[in-house]
Amino acid sequence: MNGEEFVSQLEGVRLRGRGRWTSKCPAHDDRSPSLSVREKDDGRILIKCFAGCEAQAIVESLGLTFSDLYPDKPISHHVRGVRHNSRDLLHLVRREAMVVVLAAEDLKNGKPLSEGDHSRLLAAVGRIAVVVNES
Ligand SMILES: [Zn+2]
Repeated sequence: MNGEEFVSQLEGVRLRGRGRWTSKCPAHDDRSPSLSVREKDDGRILIKCFAGCEAQAIVESLGLTFSDLYPDKPISHHVRGVRHNSRDLLHLVRREAMVVVLAAEDLKNGKPLSEGDHSRLLAAVGRIAVVVNES
């Protein structure tokens, strides 16, 4: 989304200049506008609460994720019919790689893989292969 779409979800928004807004922070009980929102030239949205809320808490209280603070990417990939952008794919690979690491740890510690763990491991390897093939 862009900066305007983002601030449309906030309260007490004031435009402070091109790509700059202040508003009430949705992550704490805000009486004065503590939140500063900036849209950078590359389309990224920067948020800062001067009362000290974490950016994570702010996006979550709006029901958003950090990927919503990035401009919609023209480059996208299709994995199993689902459209993913590059960031989603990195997250997916990281998560699936963790499944492989955990399985390796179990085996190293002499713990046999259960049937469920084994199929989860195969699924993880399959998903990583799909991402690599389609990237
Ligand atoms: Zn705040």
